[in-house]
Parts: sequence; structure tokens; C-alpha cells
Amino acid sequence: MATTDSTKQTLAQMGVDSPTKVASLFDDLRSAFDRDVAHEISSLDLEAARVKWLGRKAGILAEIGDNWLKPAAKEIKPAVGQSLNALKAHVEGQFTALAAAKDTAREQSAAARDQIDLSLPGVERAIGTRHLIRQTYEELERIFLSIGFRVVEGPEIETPYYNFEALNIPEHHPARDNMDTFYIEGSKAGHLLRTHTSPMQIRTMEKEKPPVRIIVPGKVYRRDNPDSTHGYMFHQIEGLAVDTDITFCDFKGTVEYFVREFLGPKAKTRLRPSYFPFTEPSAEVDATCHVCGGSGCRVCKFSGWIELFGAGMVNPAVYGCVNYDPEKLSGFAFGMGVDRLAMMKYGVGELPVLTQNDVRFLRQFP
Ligand SMILES: [Zn+2]
Repeated sequence: MATTDSTKQTLAQMGVDSPTKVASLFDDLRSAFDRDVAHEISSLDLEAARVKWLGRKAGILAEIGDNWLKPAAKEIKPAVGQSLNALKAHVEGQFTALAAAKDTAREQSAAARDQIDLSLPGVERAIGTRHLIRQTYEELERIFLSIGFRVVEGPEIETPYYNFEALNIPEHHPARDNMDTFYIEGSKAGHLLRTHTSPMQIRTMEKEKPPVRIIVPGKVYRRDNPDSTHGYMFHQIEGLAVDTDITFCDFKGTVEYFVREFLGPKAKTRLRPSYFPFTEPSAEVDATCHVCGGSGCRVCKFSGWIELFGAGMVNPAVYGCVNYDPEKLSGFAFGMGVDRLAMMKYGVGELPVLTQNDVRFLRQFP
């Protein structure tokens, strides 16, 4: 019985001395090949089988040429040559057929994988929501646009003139200390990150004749120690109305209208005297607590009131910087912390969650 190892010996060593024995030997070898390939096709390692049988140096067919054919005795040499050629044709033919079958199998499995089942449910893609700050801005803008204000925006890097001086905050004024300011390193002009959106009051009045009715949404920066209600950056919306006949009543009416629109028709407004360099008189605007409705709770520290924002009538000193006539013009201004309003309205307890972009938080406000 020939095995695939028998090709290490010569035919004479194996006692094969007649064409009949040669034919029988090759028949056995062919069966061995067929078994071999049947095994390899199942493990799909055709390349290993190909090297074993057809390898140029150590392949079985090469060994037959070296060990069987070359040293074969004259009387059996033609039979060995013919049988070898026949076996070679069989082996090569099989490998070609198997390779083709393997390609077909691969194509079929790829086709099966790519096949689209239109009845399957689609892949659900996460759709972003508008950030709570964005939503609050849009709400604030909606309210003020509905009563004739328009939106202007301005630079976040400002000069001390626009951020302080023109707003009646001269150098060494204590109000500058309250607004711990980030200065731009190396700026000869003393450029800084604006501490409020108020510089746009000046920039707008410099360019435009009254009447002016603007709101200014934007980011502002202060060197606060970050905690649950303070950060380095926060969002503000500034408002300014200037005309020939604006009174404190217009100011109060606008503020009350805003509070009702923002917090609901039952919300009441209270003005407390305050101080800002660029308004005179100045007021803190309070609203009845949105949680308890004014009866007192933990959120309003049992006062029934929540502090909303600062505001006031424009200080006549400001008009001097923009060539407005303080004798003929009057107006009011306000500055709201949007983060604070968003936290209050939507019951968010911690400021940092507004900027941490935790999707679990953001998804709560579709
Ligand atoms: Zn309350």
C-alpha cells in the first residue's frame, strides 16, 4: 500500500519492478491524494494541501520525479512517466476545481451577509437636542423680540474702554474689583475677556441714532472660583432701550411683562434698590418663587421671592461717551444670567452640569 511517505524511497527500494506494480502504486497514491484533499477542503486549508502535493522542491509530485522516475529501471520508466503525468493532471485539475468552489462559497456567504431585509426595523440614530442654555436663550429672545427688541452680538475680547470706562466704571472704581477680570497676556492695550455683555450697549449707541432697542446674548468671563453656582464662563443676555420718552414706568412694565412670559401669568415682580455704575436708579428684579408661588419654601429660602437679574435706568454719564444728549434721551438696561435663569426655570441644582455635556442630562430637555 503506497502512502505519501513512500515517495522518499526509490521504486527499486520498494520492490516495484513491473508496469503493473507501477500502475497499482499510482492508483494508491491517487486515492491518498483524494482523501487528503477531501480533508483539506473541509478545513478550507487548500494552500497547505497544494504545497504538500505540488511544492516545487519538497512536494510529493516533485519527489516522485526525483526518487521514482529518474532512477527507474528502463523497463518501467515509461509507465512511471505516464502515471506521473496522469496523477499530476488529476492533482492540478482538482486544485483548480476546489479553488473555484471555494471562491463561489465565499461569494455566496458575502451575498447572504449583504442581503438587505427591508422588513427589519431601521437603525435608530441618536438625534441631538437643543442644549438647555440654547433653549433658554431662544425663549428669552422670543419674549423680547415680541415687544420690539432686536438681537445684536459683539466680541468676547474687549478693551478696558468698552468693558469699563464707557460704562462709567473708571480705573480704581471698586466695581472693577467685583468683576475679577481675565486680561489677555501681552496686550499693550490691556485687552480682556469681557466681564459682561454691556460693552455692546456702547458699541451699538456709537453707531446708531436713537431709538435703540436691543438685546445682546453672549458669553462672559470672570475669575470666579468654580463651584456649584459659579464658573469661569457664563451666559448673559443684555438689554437696552433708549428713546426720547422712556420712563421708569416703561422699565417696570417691560420687566413685569418679561417675568410673566418667562415664569407664567401668576408670577409677580418686585424691584429692590441696588447699585450699578451704568444705571441710575438701579434695581434688583425679584419674582415670586416659581416653586412655592410665594408662600415660602427651601428654594426661595422661605422668603417667597427669587432674585432674577439686575437692571435700571441708563446712567446719563453713559450717554456722554456716545454723543447722546442726556437732556433729551432716557432709557433702561438690564443684564440677565442665562445659566441662572435656566437652572431656576428647569430645576437644575448644579451649574457645572450645564457645561459638562453629559448626554443623560441633556436628553431630559428635548
Ligand atoms: Zn419658594
